[in-house]
Amino acid sequence: MSRPVVTRIAPSPTGSMHIGTARTALFNHLYARRHGGKFLIRVEDTDRERSTQENVDILFQGFAWLGLASDEEPVYQAQRADRHREVVDELVQRGAAFRCWMTPEETEAAREVARAEGRALRSTWRDRTDGDPSQPHVIRFRTPDDQPVVVVDAVQGEVSFPSKDLDDLVLLRSSGEPTYNLAVVVDDHDMGISHVIRGDDHLNNTPRQALIYDAMDWERPVFAHVPLIHGPDGKKLSKRHGATSVAEYADQGYLPEAMRNYLARLGWSHGDDELFSDAQAESWFDLEHIGRAPARLDFDKLNHVNGWWIRQADDERLAALVQQVRAGRGDVVADADLPRLIRAIPMVKDRADTLIALADQLAFALLNRPLAIAEKPAAQLTDEARARLARLADRLAGLETWDAAFLDDSLKGFAEAEEVGMGKIGPPLRAALTGGVASPDIAKTLAALGKAESLGRMADVLSPQA
Ligand code: GLU
Repeated sequence: MSRPVVTRIAPSPTGSMHIGTARTALFNHLYARRHGGKFLIRVEDTDRERSTQENVDILFQGFAWLGLASDEEPVYQAQRADRHREVVDELVQRGAAFRCWMTPEETEAAREVARAEGRALRSTWRDRTDGDPSQPHVIRFRTPDDQPVVVVDAVQGEVSFPSKDLDDLVLLRSSGEPTYNLAVVVDDHDMGISHVIRGDDHLNNTPRQALIYDAMDWERPVFAHVPLIHGPDGKKLSKRHGATSVAEYADQGYLPEAMRNYLARLGWSHGDDELFSDAQAESWFDLEHIGRAPARLDFDKLNHVNGWWIRQADDERLAALVQQVRAGRGDVVADADLPRLIRAIPMVKDRADTLIALADQLAFALLNRPLAIAEKPAAQLTDEARARLARLADRLAGLETWDAAFLDDSLKGFAEAEEVGMGKIGPPLRAALTGGVASPDIAKTLAALGKAESLGRMADVLSPQA
Protein backbone atom coordinates (compact mmCIF):
# COMPACT_ATOMS: atom_id res chain seq x y z
CA MET A 1 0.00 0.00 0.00
CA SER A 2 1.47 3.31 -0.92
CA ARG A 3 0.92 6.17 1.45
CA PRO A 4 -1.47 9.03 0.73
CA VAL A 5 0.07 11.80 -1.32
CA VAL A 6 0.85 14.90 0.70
CA THR A 7 3.11 17.56 -0.76
CA ARG A 8 4.24 20.91 0.53
CA ILE A 9 5.96 24.15 -0.27
CA ALA A 10 8.24 25.37 2.50
CA PRO A 11 9.29 28.93 1.78
CA SER A 12 11.23 31.23 4.05
CA PRO A 13 9.79 34.73 4.28
CA THR A 14 12.42 36.84 2.57
CA GLY A 15 10.36 39.83 1.49
CA SER A 16 9.44 38.60 -1.96
CA MET A 17 8.26 35.37 -3.54
CA HIS A 18 10.80 34.12 -6.04
CA ILE A 19 9.46 32.79 -9.29
CA GLY A 20 11.25 29.50 -8.53
CA THR A 21 9.26 29.19 -5.31
CA ALA A 22 6.09 29.80 -7.29
CA ARG A 23 7.00 27.03 -9.72
CA THR A 24 7.93 24.62 -6.92
CA ALA A 25 4.64 25.38 -5.19
CA LEU A 26 2.76 24.79 -8.42
CA PHE A 27 4.50 21.47 -9.10
CA ASN A 28 3.66 20.31 -5.57
CA HIS A 29 0.09 21.49 -5.94
CA LEU A 30 -0.36 19.77 -9.29
CA TYR A 31 1.17 16.57 -8.02
CA ALA A 32 -1.17 16.52 -5.04
CA ARG A 33 -4.20 17.21 -7.24
CA ARG A 34 -3.20 14.56 -9.74
CA HIS A 35 -3.18 11.97 -6.99
CA GLY A 36 -6.15 13.22 -5.01
CA GLY A 37 -3.77 14.21 -2.21
CA LYS A 38 -3.09 17.30 -0.16
CA PHE A 39 -0.90 20.32 -0.77
CA LEU A 40 0.37 22.07 2.35
CA ILE A 41 2.23 25.27 3.09
CA ARG A 42 4.90 25.47 5.75
CA VAL A 43 6.48 28.80 6.54
CA GLU A 44 10.12 28.30 7.45
CA ASP A 45 10.35 31.29 9.70
CA THR A 46 13.24 30.38 11.95
CA ASP A 47 15.27 33.41 10.85
CA ARG A 48 13.56 35.78 13.27
CA GLU A 49 14.98 38.90 11.69
CA ARG A 50 13.65 38.25 8.20
CA SER A 51 10.46 36.54 9.28
CA THR A 52 8.47 39.67 9.91
CA GLN A 53 4.71 39.68 9.61
CA GLU A 54 5.11 41.83 6.52
CA ASN A 55 7.35 39.27 4.85
CA VAL A 56 4.99 36.45 5.78
CA ASP A 57 2.10 38.46 4.31
CA ILE A 58 4.05 38.90 1.09
CA LEU A 59 4.34 35.12 0.77
CA PHE A 60 0.64 34.60 1.25
CA GLN A 61 -0.21 37.41 -1.14
CA GLY A 62 1.93 35.58 -3.69
CA PHE A 63 0.12 32.31 -3.08
CA ALA A 64 -3.26 34.02 -3.19
CA TRP A 65 -2.44 35.69 -6.47
CA LEU A 66 -1.26 32.40 -7.93
CA GLY A 67 -4.43 30.72 -6.72
CA LEU A 68 -2.60 28.22 -4.55
CA ALA A 69 -3.87 27.62 -1.06
CA SER A 70 -2.83 25.19 1.62
CA ASP A 71 -5.28 22.34 2.11
CA GLU A 72 -4.71 22.64 5.87
CA GLU A 73 -3.79 25.45 8.23
CA PRO A 74 -0.28 26.57 7.27
CA VAL A 75 2.46 25.34 9.59
CA TYR A 76 4.95 27.77 11.10
CA GLN A 77 8.28 26.12 11.70
CA ALA A 78 9.41 28.43 14.49
CA GLN A 79 6.42 27.36 16.59
CA ARG A 80 7.56 23.76 16.47
CA ALA A 81 10.92 24.11 18.20
CA ASP A 82 9.81 22.06 21.22
CA ARG A 83 8.86 19.20 18.99
CA HIS A 84 12.20 19.49 17.18
CA ARG A 85 14.02 19.28 20.52
CA GLU A 86 11.93 16.26 21.49
CA VAL A 87 13.12 14.42 18.37
CA VAL A 88 16.71 15.41 19.06
CA ASP A 89 16.32 13.86 22.54
CA GLU A 90 15.02 10.74 20.98
CA LEU A 91 17.94 10.61 18.57
CA VAL A 92 20.31 10.89 21.55
CA GLN A 93 18.47 8.06 23.29
CA ARG A 94 18.74 5.95 20.18
CA GLY A 95 22.47 6.59 20.05
CA ALA A 96 22.08 8.32 16.70
CA ALA A 97 23.06 11.68 18.15
CA PHE A 98 25.39 12.75 20.91
CA ARG A 99 26.32 15.75 23.01
CA CYS A 100 29.41 17.60 21.94
CA TRP A 101 31.37 20.05 24.07
CA MET A 102 34.03 20.96 21.51
CA THR A 103 35.10 24.57 21.78
CA PRO A 104 35.31 26.62 18.57
CA GLU A 105 39.10 26.13 18.67
CA GLU A 106 38.78 22.39 19.08
CA THR A 107 36.24 22.26 16.29
CA GLU A 108 38.61 24.15 14.01
CA ALA A 109 41.45 21.80 14.89
CA ALA A 110 39.27 18.74 14.26
CA ARG A 111 38.29 20.25 10.93
CA GLU A 112 41.95 20.65 9.99
CA VAL A 113 42.61 16.99 10.74
CA ALA A 114 39.52 15.98 8.77
CA ARG A 115 40.60 18.06 5.80
CA ALA A 116 44.06 16.53 5.86
CA GLU A 117 42.51 13.07 5.90
CA GLY A 118 40.11 13.91 3.08
CA ARG A 119 36.90 13.52 5.06
CA ALA A 120 34.33 15.65 6.84
CA LEU A 121 34.37 16.70 10.48
CA ARG A 122 34.01 14.05 13.18
CA SER A 123 33.48 15.25 16.69
CA THR A 124 35.92 14.09 19.35
CA TRP A 125 32.88 13.55 21.61
CA ARG A 126 31.27 10.77 19.60
CA ASP A 127 32.10 8.14 22.16
CA ARG A 128 32.94 10.13 25.28
CA THR A 129 30.66 10.03 28.27
CA ASP A 130 32.42 12.47 30.57
CA GLY A 131 30.77 15.72 29.44
CA ASP A 132 28.85 17.92 31.82
CA PRO A 133 25.31 18.49 30.49
CA SER A 134 25.05 21.66 32.57
CA GLN A 135 27.81 23.17 30.45
CA PRO A 136 27.03 24.68 27.02
CA HIS A 137 27.13 22.07 24.29
CA VAL A 138 25.58 21.20 20.97
CA ILE A 139 23.95 17.98 19.87
CA ARG A 140 25.35 16.39 16.75
CA PHE A 141 24.22 13.61 14.49
CA ARG A 142 26.44 10.55 14.54
CA THR A 143 27.18 10.32 10.84
CA PRO A 144 28.23 6.86 9.68
CA ASP A 145 31.99 6.77 9.15
CA ASP A 146 32.19 5.61 5.63
CA GLN A 147 29.25 4.20 3.78
CA PRO A 148 27.29 5.33 0.76
CA VAL A 149 24.12 7.24 1.53
CA VAL A 150 21.90 6.44 -1.42
CA VAL A 151 19.05 8.71 -2.30
CA VAL A 152 16.63 7.65 -4.99
CA ASP A 153 15.43 10.84 -6.58
CA ALA A 154 12.47 10.92 -8.92
CA VAL A 155 14.18 13.47 -11.15
CA GLN A 156 17.90 12.99 -10.62
CA GLY A 157 17.83 9.20 -10.42
CA GLU A 158 19.89 7.32 -7.86
CA VAL A 159 22.39 9.63 -6.20
CA SER A 160 24.99 8.27 -3.82
CA PHE A 161 26.81 10.41 -1.27
CA PRO A 162 29.78 9.00 0.67
CA SER A 163 29.05 9.55 4.35
CA LYS A 164 32.66 10.41 5.02
CA ASP A 165 31.97 13.71 3.23
CA LEU A 166 29.16 14.54 5.64
CA ASP A 167 29.89 16.31 8.94
CA ASP A 168 28.66 15.17 12.29
CA LEU A 169 25.82 17.56 11.72
CA VAL A 170 24.76 19.90 14.49
CA LEU A 171 21.08 19.18 15.22
CA LEU A 172 20.67 21.46 18.21
CA ARG A 173 22.73 24.58 18.84
CA SER A 174 24.06 25.40 22.27
CA SER A 175 21.27 28.00 22.45
CA GLY A 176 18.78 25.15 22.19
CA GLU A 177 17.78 26.18 18.69
CA PRO A 178 17.14 23.32 16.26
CA THR A 179 19.04 23.49 12.98
CA TYR A 180 17.59 23.61 9.52
CA ASN A 181 18.01 20.02 8.31
CA LEU A 182 16.62 18.60 11.52
CA ALA A 183 13.59 20.90 11.52
CA VAL A 184 12.77 20.11 7.89
CA VAL A 185 12.82 16.37 8.51
CA VAL A 186 10.71 16.53 11.67
CA ASP A 187 8.19 18.83 10.07
CA ASP A 188 7.95 16.85 6.86
CA HIS A 189 7.48 13.67 8.86
CA ASP A 190 4.89 15.13 11.20
CA MET A 191 2.97 16.70 8.31
CA GLY A 192 2.87 13.31 6.62
CA ILE A 193 4.71 14.59 3.56
CA SER A 194 4.99 11.76 1.05
CA HIS A 195 6.75 13.68 -1.73
CA VAL A 196 9.33 16.40 -1.36
CA ILE A 197 9.47 18.24 -4.66
CA ARG A 198 11.92 21.12 -4.41
CA GLY A 199 14.76 22.95 -6.12
CA ASP A 200 17.94 20.98 -6.73
CA ASP A 201 19.84 23.47 -4.59
CA HIS A 202 18.61 21.24 -1.77
CA LEU A 203 20.00 18.02 -3.20
CA ASN A 204 23.11 18.27 -1.02
CA ASN A 205 20.96 18.48 2.11
CA THR A 206 19.15 15.32 1.18
CA PRO A 207 21.65 12.67 2.36
CA ARG A 208 21.79 14.41 5.74
CA GLN A 209 18.02 14.46 5.92
CA ALA A 210 17.80 10.86 4.73
CA LEU A 211 20.10 9.75 7.56
CA ILE A 212 17.85 11.42 10.10
CA TYR A 213 14.75 9.68 8.67
CA ASP A 214 16.59 6.37 8.83
CA ALA A 215 17.81 6.96 12.38
CA MET A 216 14.23 7.63 13.52
CA ASP A 217 12.91 4.65 11.54
CA TRP A 218 10.69 7.02 9.67
CA GLU A 219 9.75 6.32 6.08
CA ARG A 220 11.62 8.68 3.79
CA PRO A 221 9.48 10.70 1.42
CA VAL A 222 9.99 10.42 -2.31
CA PHE A 223 12.44 13.16 -3.22
CA ALA A 224 12.24 15.01 -6.51
CA HIS A 225 14.86 17.70 -7.04
CA VAL A 226 13.96 20.03 -9.86
CA PRO A 227 16.71 21.95 -11.67
CA LEU A 228 16.57 25.67 -10.90
CA ILE A 229 15.15 28.09 -13.43
CA HIS A 230 17.73 29.81 -15.60
CA GLY A 231 17.58 33.11 -17.44
CA PRO A 232 17.16 33.30 -21.22
CA ASP A 233 20.96 33.23 -21.55
CA GLY A 234 21.18 29.89 -19.76
CA LYS A 235 22.75 31.41 -16.64
CA LYS A 236 21.28 31.23 -13.16
CA LEU A 237 18.26 33.51 -12.95
CA SER A 238 19.05 36.91 -11.51
CA LYS A 239 17.66 40.43 -11.41
CA ARG A 240 19.46 41.39 -14.61
CA HIS A 241 17.23 38.97 -16.53
CA GLY A 242 14.16 40.95 -15.52
CA ALA A 243 11.42 40.01 -13.12
CA THR A 244 12.35 37.40 -10.51
CA SER A 245 9.48 37.83 -8.08
CA VAL A 246 5.85 36.88 -8.43
CA ALA A 247 4.73 40.41 -7.53
CA GLU A 248 6.71 41.81 -10.44
CA TYR A 249 4.93 39.50 -12.87
CA ALA A 250 1.61 40.60 -11.44
CA ASP A 251 2.64 44.23 -11.84
CA GLN A 252 3.74 43.63 -15.40
CA GLY A 253 0.27 42.49 -16.34
CA TYR A 254 0.45 38.72 -16.38
CA LEU A 255 -2.66 36.76 -15.47
CA PRO A 256 -2.32 34.18 -12.72
CA GLU A 257 -3.74 31.40 -14.90
CA ALA A 258 -1.22 32.28 -17.62
CA MET A 259 1.54 32.22 -15.06
CA ARG A 260 0.41 28.81 -13.85
CA ASN A 261 0.27 27.52 -17.41
CA TYR A 262 3.69 28.93 -18.24
CA LEU A 263 5.35 27.82 -15.00
CA ALA A 264 3.97 24.31 -15.37
CA ARG A 265 5.78 24.08 -18.69
CA LEU A 266 8.97 25.48 -17.22
CA GLY A 267 10.88 22.30 -16.56
CA TRP A 268 8.03 19.88 -17.10
CA SER A 269 6.36 18.82 -20.30
CA HIS A 270 3.34 16.99 -21.60
CA GLY A 271 4.21 16.25 -25.19
CA ASP A 272 4.14 19.45 -27.19
CA ASP A 273 1.26 20.97 -25.25
CA GLU A 274 1.95 24.62 -24.50
CA LEU A 275 -1.50 25.99 -23.75
CA PHE A 276 -3.55 24.10 -21.23
CA SER A 277 -5.99 24.61 -18.41
CA ASP A 278 -5.50 23.98 -14.71
CA ALA A 279 -7.71 20.91 -15.01
CA GLN A 280 -5.53 19.51 -17.78
CA ALA A 281 -2.34 20.23 -15.86
CA GLU A 282 -3.84 18.54 -12.81
CA SER A 283 -4.70 15.44 -14.79
CA TRP A 284 -1.33 15.27 -16.57
CA PHE A 285 1.33 16.33 -14.10
CA ASP A 286 3.93 13.72 -13.24
CA LEU A 287 7.48 13.55 -11.98
CA GLU A 288 8.69 11.46 -14.94
CA HIS A 289 8.51 14.41 -17.30
CA ILE A 290 10.41 16.89 -15.18
CA GLY A 291 13.54 17.69 -17.16
CA ARG A 292 17.02 17.15 -15.80
CA ALA A 293 18.36 20.23 -17.52
CA PRO A 294 17.51 23.67 -16.15
CA ALA A 295 14.59 25.32 -17.94
CA ARG A 296 15.18 28.79 -19.34
CA LEU A 297 12.80 31.67 -18.88
CA ASP A 298 11.52 32.75 -22.25
CA PHE A 299 9.62 36.02 -22.14
CA ASP A 300 8.32 35.69 -25.71
CA LYS A 301 6.76 32.39 -24.81
CA LEU A 302 5.35 33.79 -21.59
CA ASN A 303 3.83 36.69 -23.52
CA HIS A 304 2.34 34.29 -26.02
CA VAL A 305 0.79 32.21 -23.24
CA ASN A 306 -0.45 35.32 -21.47
CA GLY A 307 -1.98 36.73 -24.66
CA TRP A 308 -3.83 33.49 -25.16
CA TRP A 309 -5.21 33.59 -21.64
CA ILE A 310 -6.22 37.22 -22.05
CA ARG A 311 -8.28 36.16 -25.05
CA GLN A 312 -9.94 33.44 -22.97
CA ALA A 313 -10.70 35.80 -20.10
CA ASP A 314 -14.07 37.27 -19.35
CA ASP A 315 -14.41 40.89 -20.52
CA GLU A 316 -15.78 42.23 -17.25
CA ARG A 317 -12.92 40.68 -15.34
CA LEU A 318 -10.43 42.17 -17.79
CA ALA A 319 -12.12 45.54 -17.38
CA ALA A 320 -11.63 45.33 -13.62
CA LEU A 321 -7.97 44.40 -14.11
CA VAL A 322 -7.45 47.24 -16.56
CA GLN A 323 -9.00 49.58 -13.99
CA GLN A 324 -6.40 48.33 -11.51
CA VAL A 325 -3.60 49.01 -13.98
CA ARG A 326 -4.93 52.53 -14.52
CA ALA A 327 -5.44 53.08 -10.80
CA GLY A 328 -1.78 52.15 -10.37
CA ARG A 329 -1.06 55.09 -12.65
CA GLY A 330 -3.28 57.33 -10.56
CA ASP A 331 -6.08 57.24 -13.07
CA VAL A 332 -9.48 56.22 -11.81
CA VAL A 333 -12.03 55.05 -14.37
CA ALA A 334 -15.35 56.79 -13.78
CA ASP A 335 -18.35 54.49 -13.38
CA ALA A 336 -19.96 56.14 -16.38
CA ASP A 337 -17.01 55.14 -18.55
CA LEU A 338 -17.05 51.50 -17.51
CA PRO A 339 -19.56 50.21 -20.11
CA ARG A 340 -17.46 51.82 -22.82
CA LEU A 341 -14.38 50.07 -21.45
CA ILE A 342 -16.13 46.70 -21.41
CA ARG A 343 -17.48 47.23 -24.95
CA ALA A 344 -14.00 48.02 -26.22
CA ILE A 345 -12.30 44.97 -24.71
CA PRO A 346 -13.37 42.33 -27.26
CA MET A 347 -12.20 44.67 -30.02
CA VAL A 348 -8.63 44.86 -28.78
CA LYS A 349 -8.03 41.81 -26.62
CA ASP A 350 -6.53 39.79 -29.45
CA ARG A 351 -3.72 42.30 -29.76
CA ALA A 352 -2.57 42.49 -26.15
CA ASP A 353 -0.02 40.16 -24.57
CA THR A 354 -0.21 41.73 -21.13
CA LEU A 355 -2.72 43.72 -19.10
CA ILE A 356 -0.45 46.72 -19.46
CA ALA A 357 -0.65 46.42 -23.25
CA LEU A 358 -4.38 45.87 -22.94
CA ALA A 359 -4.76 49.02 -20.85
CA ASP A 360 -2.77 50.92 -23.46
CA GLN A 361 -4.92 49.53 -26.29
CA LEU A 362 -7.99 50.64 -24.39
CA ALA A 363 -6.81 54.16 -23.69
CA PHE A 364 -8.82 55.45 -26.68
CA ALA A 365 -12.05 54.52 -24.92
CA LEU A 366 -11.27 56.53 -21.81
CA LEU A 367 -10.00 59.84 -23.13
CA ASN A 368 -11.21 63.05 -21.55
CA ARG A 369 -13.20 65.35 -23.77
CA PRO A 370 -12.39 67.49 -25.61
CA LEU A 371 -9.56 65.31 -26.84
CA ALA A 372 -6.05 66.61 -27.20
CA ILE A 373 -5.38 65.96 -30.88
CA ALA A 374 -1.84 65.14 -31.91
CA GLU A 375 -0.25 67.11 -34.71
CA LYS A 376 -0.43 64.48 -37.40
CA PRO A 377 -4.10 63.60 -37.03
CA ALA A 378 -4.91 67.30 -36.55
CA ALA A 379 -3.54 67.87 -40.05
CA GLN A 380 -6.29 65.57 -41.33
CA LEU A 381 -8.95 67.98 -40.14
CA THR A 382 -8.95 70.29 -43.12
CA ASP A 383 -11.98 72.48 -43.80
CA GLU A 384 -13.12 70.04 -46.44
CA ALA A 385 -12.73 67.13 -44.06
CA ARG A 386 -14.63 68.92 -41.29
CA ALA A 387 -17.49 69.73 -43.60
CA ARG A 388 -17.68 66.08 -44.52
CA LEU A 389 -17.42 65.03 -40.87
CA ALA A 390 -20.38 67.30 -40.13
CA ARG A 391 -22.44 65.54 -42.81
CA LEU A 392 -21.31 62.19 -41.48
CA ALA A 393 -22.27 63.18 -37.95
CA ASP A 394 -25.77 64.01 -39.18
CA ARG A 395 -26.04 60.66 -40.87
CA LEU A 396 -24.74 58.75 -37.85
CA ALA A 397 -27.07 60.64 -35.53
CA GLY A 398 -29.98 59.14 -37.44
CA LEU A 399 -28.85 55.54 -36.96
CA GLU A 400 -30.91 53.33 -34.71
CA THR A 401 -28.47 50.44 -34.73
CA TRP A 402 -24.96 50.93 -33.42
CA ASP A 403 -22.79 47.91 -33.96
CA ALA A 404 -19.55 47.45 -35.85
CA ALA A 405 -20.99 45.62 -38.87
CA PHE A 406 -23.83 48.08 -39.31
CA LEU A 407 -21.50 51.05 -38.83
CA ASP A 408 -19.09 49.63 -41.38
CA ASP A 409 -21.89 49.48 -43.94
CA SER A 410 -23.02 52.98 -43.05
CA LEU A 411 -19.53 54.39 -43.53
CA LYS A 412 -19.27 52.71 -46.91
CA GLY A 413 -22.69 54.01 -47.90
CA PHE A 414 -21.65 57.48 -46.85
CA ALA A 415 -18.40 57.28 -48.87
CA GLU A 416 -20.44 56.28 -51.93
CA ALA A 417 -22.86 59.11 -51.42
CA GLU A 418 -19.96 61.54 -51.07
CA GLU A 419 -18.28 59.98 -54.11
CA VAL A 420 -15.00 59.63 -52.24
CA GLY A 421 -12.95 56.66 -51.11
CA MET A 422 -12.77 55.55 -47.48
CA GLY A 423 -9.33 57.13 -47.37
CA LYS A 424 -11.04 60.52 -47.22
CA ILE A 425 -13.33 59.50 -44.40
CA GLY A 426 -11.42 57.20 -42.09
CA PRO A 427 -8.42 59.37 -41.15
CA PRO A 428 -10.34 62.56 -40.20
CA LEU A 429 -12.96 60.53 -38.40
CA ARG A 430 -10.24 58.69 -36.48
CA ALA A 431 -8.58 62.00 -35.64
CA ALA A 432 -11.86 63.23 -34.16
CA LEU A 433 -12.60 60.00 -32.31
CA THR A 434 -9.16 59.28 -30.86
CA GLY A 435 -6.91 62.30 -31.27
CA GLY A 436 -4.25 59.94 -32.62
CA VAL A 437 -4.31 57.39 -29.81
CA ALA A 438 -4.13 53.76 -31.01
CA SER A 439 -7.55 52.28 -31.68
CA PRO A 440 -9.13 49.37 -33.52
CA ASP A 441 -10.70 49.43 -36.95
CA ILE A 442 -12.78 52.59 -37.35
CA ALA A 443 -16.21 50.93 -37.31
CA LYS A 444 -15.20 49.02 -34.17
CA THR A 445 -13.94 52.21 -32.61
CA LEU A 446 -17.33 53.84 -33.19
CA ALA A 447 -19.10 50.79 -31.83
CA ALA A 448 -16.92 50.65 -28.74
CA LEU A 449 -17.30 54.34 -27.98
CA GLY A 450 -21.05 54.16 -28.37
CA LYS A 451 -23.26 56.60 -30.16
CA ALA A 452 -23.31 59.48 -27.69
CA GLU A 453 -19.58 59.49 -27.06
CA SER A 454 -18.75 59.16 -30.77
CA LEU A 455 -21.02 62.01 -31.76
CA GLY A 456 -19.77 64.06 -28.82
CA ARG A 457 -16.16 63.66 -29.85
CA MET A 458 -17.05 64.55 -33.44
CA ALA A 459 -18.95 67.62 -32.30
CA ASP A 460 -15.93 68.71 -30.25
CA VAL A 461 -13.74 68.99 -33.36
CA LEU A 462 -16.49 70.52 -35.45
CA SER A 463 -17.17 73.38 -33.10
CA PRO A 464 -13.97 73.85 -31.18
CA GLN A 465 -14.80 76.08 -28.24
CA ALA A 466 -11.32 76.30 -26.86
N1 GLU B 1 12.96 26.74 3.15
C1 GLU B 1 13.65 26.17 2.04
C2 GLU B 1 13.80 27.19 0.96
O1 GLU B 1 13.10 28.19 0.99
C3 GLU B 1 12.92 24.98 1.45
C4 GLU B 1 13.20 23.73 2.17
C5 GLU B 1 12.65 22.53 1.47
O2 GLU B 1 11.90 22.65 0.49
O3 GLU B 1 12.97 21.44 1.93
O4 GLU B 1 14.62 27.03 0.08
